[in-house]
Amino acid sequence: MIGTTVHTYKNYIGGEWVEASNGETFDSINPADTEDIVGRFPACTAEDAIRAIRAAEAAFPGWARTAPAKRAEILNKAADLLERRLERIAQELTREEGKVISASRMEVKRSAATLRYYAAEGLSFSGETFPNDDPASLVFTIREPLGVVSVITPWNFPVSIPARKIAPALITGNTVVFKPASDTPLMGLRLVEALVDAGVPAGVLNFVTGSASKVGQPLTADPAVKAVTFTGSTQAGEAIHRSVPLTTRTQMELGGKNPLLIMEDADLEKAVELTIKGGFELTGQACTGTSRVIVMRSVHDQYVEKLVQHTSRLKIGNGFTDGVQIGPLANRSQLATVIDYVAVGRAEGATLVYGGEHLTDGEYGKGYYVRPAIFTGVTPDMRIAREEIFGPVVAVIAVDSLEEALRVANSVEYGLSASIVTKDLEKAQIFVKEIQSGTVKVNRTTTGNLMNVPFGGLKKSSSSTFRESGRVGLEFFTQMKTVYFGY
Ligand code: NAP
Ligand code: MG
Repeated sequence: MIGTTVHTYKNYIGGEWVEASNGETFDSINPADTEDIVGRFPACTAEDAIRAIRAAEAAFPGWARTAPAKRAEILNKAADLLERRLERIAQELTREEGKVISASRMEVKRSAATLRYYAAEGLSFSGETFPNDDPASLVFTIREPLGVVSVITPWNFPVSIPARKIAPALITGNTVVFKPASDTPLMGLRLVEALVDAGVPAGVLNFVTGSASKVGQPLTADPAVKAVTFTGSTQAGEAIHRSVPLTTRTQMELGGKNPLLIMEDADLEKAVELTIKGGFELTGQACTGTSRVIVMRSVHDQYVEKLVQHTSRLKIGNGFTDGVQIGPLANRSQLATVIDYVAVGRAEGATLVYGGEHLTDGEYGKGYYVRPAIFTGVTPDMRIAREEIFGPVVAVIAVDSLEEALRVANSVEYGLSASIVTKDLEKAQIFVKEIQSGTVKVNRTTTGNLMNVPFGGLKKSSSSTFRESGRVGLEFFTQMKTVYFGY
């Protein structure tokens, strides 16, 4: 790959592939080998973003009137194209974001499935009729699209997160301006290409790459934007929340500090397997990743011993290499954050029982590699127990009762996903009822969510408005009218 010329890609605005108006570009880098430039992309300005919004605004009336069956046909065709292109896109995903190739294949497949799911679900999404006392009147609700929707997404699932926002937006008749994370513009482009090749009309879907500091303001604050669906950090979500006009609807999927509770009766092998899968796979870069383990003191030592043992066997490396389970961190600032938090944890008095080193030997020196870190002796007030790290760092907190475990679990400002490992039905049920979390699991990893069920967090993990995914994922993209129809 190195030594070949770097391809320069374009944006898609008003049905045309275009450069940034000022001609500037930025590079997308392979986090496993930072000399490998994945592609060069337009560094758009506010002016470009505004052009995209105007194009989406102009295309809205036509798209809103387009037969739902036609809209569904386009989504289905785009799904076919993603599947036909799966291997190439999966390879590019590993090259651009760093996740292991099997995970990349799964993500592209899931994205195609999501387009199909919303193509079908959108066709039966409707209002309700209501009984009323006037025999000469019908009372019912109808749903209509909002208009221009801004889609702003992170780099960790750079195909599937945009797919689960763009598909419901389009099927319900909205037009879209999509800004991918600046670390993964190629993945955004591949999704857009599939939709464009499938026949999305000019202006209905627009693609704008470039720094949030340049394009973020118009995409969230322009009054023509009727809705902003955002996934990313709580900090950015709060900034957007402050900047949107009163009439703009927002949906924000933000950070997490997800706990895994381990009860005294837990199968410890299973508990370790769930910790590793939730905490270290995807290099800990999942919003639902396990970052706190709250374990009963009576099984703590045994659990930690097994966890260290299994973690030390994990193979870290380039996501293309056979057998590798942990790829690099996705960018330089992720690496710096993880290294910082490892230092913070030590300074706070937690015990680093495993890992946490920046790996620099041989091939590792080319990318952003760290060894997964396990801290014990963590107390709930420590920063490593409260703040999102978004890397492979697990903080183990020992407790003496389910009540204490719940108190600790609920003591953070996040509430995205949480799980308990136990065979005790009563404890599991208390957990389900008392845990402050949008996703609650029993004997499963904190990570992973199905495309056909609601997804979202409580507290600072989501705006408390609309859920994503599943049938309810369509609600955000429509507004309701209530009709009293007499004669
Ligand atoms: P981020 O820095 O918040 O960026 C996310 C996206 O928002 C990027 O496209 C970014 O553009 C853009 N952005 C940042 N500030 C903005 C602003 N003020 N106005 C408009 N756009 C803005 O997050 P990240 O580092 O990419 O992703 C990691 C975070 O995402 C973690 O906190 C993680 O928990 C969260 N996440 C949440 C979920 C969920 O469903 N709850 C899922 C995945 C990830 P640039 O790339 O150009 O900066
Ligand atoms: Mg990259």
